[in-house]
Amino acid sequence: MTEPSLTSLYQQLILEHYRNPRNQSEIEGYTAEAHVSNPVCGDEICIQIRLAEDVIKEIRFVGKGCSISQASVSMMTSVVKGKSCDQAIQLAGRFADMMKGNQEVAADISMGDLRALRGVSKFPVRIKCALLGFDALRKALQKDQDVDRNVYSKREMIQ
Ligand code: ZN
Repeated sequence: MTEPSLTSLYQQLILEHYRNPRNQSEIEGYTAEAHVSNPVCGDEICIQIRLAEDVIKEIRFVGKGCSISQASVSMMTSVVKGKSCDQAIQLAGRFADMMKGNQEVAADISMGDLRALRGVSKFPVRIKCALLGFDALRKALQKDQDVDRNVYSKREMIQ
């Protein structure tokens, strides 16, 4: 009897994030950004990050699309804010494992609200929607390294 009520609790949490997304806006003075889309479903996410000393100080997004993609990116921004880049990338890997049906990750409280998406692993077509926010995160963090390199090469040129 507990399983149906738990499932509906997770569905409510997904809808709650979809209707009241966390960290939805743009950032002044962001250091990295990325735009990703999932044409199959029509989902789009643009993410902006402000990094300081390898820590995600601020992370925000704008996006449109289905409830799974938008709730997932809202949950992701809540969980990775304040984490180091390495921790965030590690979390992205853990979330991908959960989408493959890993029950150990689905029970890990450090995954926060993202655990509500555990049921998506049973619907292969929707997994891409759930992963889209983390795709944007990975892409943005890779770009940030390029930005850093540019800054260093500019400094070298000045000296
Ligand atoms: Zn979608």
